[in-house]
Amino acid sequence: MPQSRHVAIIGAGAVGVISAIEALREGHRVTLIDPGEPGGEQAASYGNAGWLSSHSVIPPAEPGVWKKVPGYLMDPLGPLAIRWSYLPKALPWLIKYLLSGWTEARVETTAVALRDLLKDAPLLHRKLAEEAGVPELIERNGVMHVFPSRGNFDNDLGWRVRKRVGVDWLELSADEMRQREPDLHPRYTFGVVVEEAGRCRDPGAYVAALAQHALASGATLVRAKAIGLNLSGNKLVAVLTETGEIACDAAVIAAGAHSKRLTASIGDPLPLETERGYHVMIENPETGPRSSMMASDAKMVVNWTDKGLRAAGTVEIAGLEAEPNWKRAEILRNNLFSMFPKLPTDIPASRIKTWFGHRPSMPDGRPCIGYARASRDIVYAFGHGHVGLVGSARTGRLVAQLLSGKPPEIPLAPFSPDRFL
Ligand SMILES: Cc1cc2nc3c(=O)[nH]c(=O)nc-3n(C[C@H](O)[C@H](O)[C@H](O)COP(=O)(O)OP(=O)(O)OC[C@H]3O[C@@H](n4cnc5c(N)ncnc54)[C@H](O)[C@@H]3O)c2cc1C
Repeated sequence: MPQSRHVAIIGAGAVGVISAIEALREGHRVTLIDPGEPGGEQAASYGNAGWLSSHSVIPPAEPGVWKKVPGYLMDPLGPLAIRWSYLPKALPWLIKYLLSGWTEARVETTAVALRDLLKDAPLLHRKLAEEAGVPELIERNGVMHVFPSRGNFDNDLGWRVRKRVGVDWLELSADEMRQREPDLHPRYTFGVVVEEAGRCRDPGAYVAALAQHALASGATLVRAKAIGLNLSGNKLVAVLTETGEIACDAAVIAAGAHSKRLTASIGDPLPLETERGYHVMIENPETGPRSSMMASDAKMVVNWTDKGLRAAGTVEIAGLEAEPNWKRAEILRNNLFSMFPKLPTDIPASRIKTWFGHRPSMPDGRPCIGYARASRDIVYAFGHGHVGLVGSARTGRLVAQLLSGKPPEIPLAPFSPDRFL
């Protein structure tokens, strides 16, 4: 039995709360630290699209994407937009981002690593949801990708690479799609169903339930913002918060897009950036998809949640501080109307909710999971970018293994923070 430690987990998003559950399972004492409500609107884990897509292994940057950068700068409402005013700050990250996807071989390196992290994730989430008493929030019925033409799919390097890393799918002709999705606009003439994938019916409620489960299993929640880590030599002594010190033997940095300052404060300047995203949600919509789907042209996921029909996606590079550009949420809404023409466009504003949040993104699309250089008492678990909900289940297990000094269940070299240091 490994030694029991008092572990302070900074951040109670999906990654933090699942790390808490797994650390408790290993026999550790856990204190969760977060100024916000676990599963609350401040976290990316609240407003994401809810996809548990174990096949989402392709990093955001692909070969040739550099040619699109001028467009990203010119069009503030495009699927990927970079704010001019933030460009100087984002540039070092952007260069690493472009280089990480420069060749198909580099994309495949990330795909192989992410496949390890994400495999069986829908099942892992289902088990966690059962433990937390909310099994109904996790469904494992597959997801659909829809394309204007078969050519769009054939020309997509991502699907070639997915095949090579073991992802399988079912292809749908226009007629088959029509039968499955009668209300989808007929401009979509080709579809792909990935049956291994799942979805979450309410990501915020799921994280809140997992946090409650951690608390019921013995964890403590401190509502405070962590501002530093107190080390004596290479031994962690305490986490510093705005309201005082929390003495502990180990810490996990799982503060999502806000993790960068904490790692820099202990000598690890890591290239973590926010890929800002939006969602729009229509309560009690008149129609919508029968399955959870991603539109390849709009770069947006449409998912039924218990609170309504949610369309989420697109990327804006503008940092943590800039005000949201709500026009981007309007674009998502308009895309939704265009995908499902039977949705009335005069839905009252009171039935339409919008949200904006921060994907915590490393340039190569792989999270940081590993020890800090300053001390093996500090474990990093952040930077999951577009796959933080689906990836949180195995990440929590890996964090617990690192805390206990056990061999990790998958190779961690591709996720090592050292790749940037
Ligand atoms: C529009 C959109 C759609 C997405 N769709 C999907 C999807 O379908 N599937 C998927 O897998 N992923 C998706 N993602 C990505 C996913 O949401 C994130 O990768 C994931 O939620 C990150 O989880 P996290 O726990 O690392 O961070 P967060 O959920 O952001 O949680 C971080 C927590 O840390 C706290 N915190 C911050 N600073 C401090 C501090 N100093 N001290 C203490 N606490 C602190 C915050 O209050 C917050 O609660 C999407 C993201 C967006 C924006």
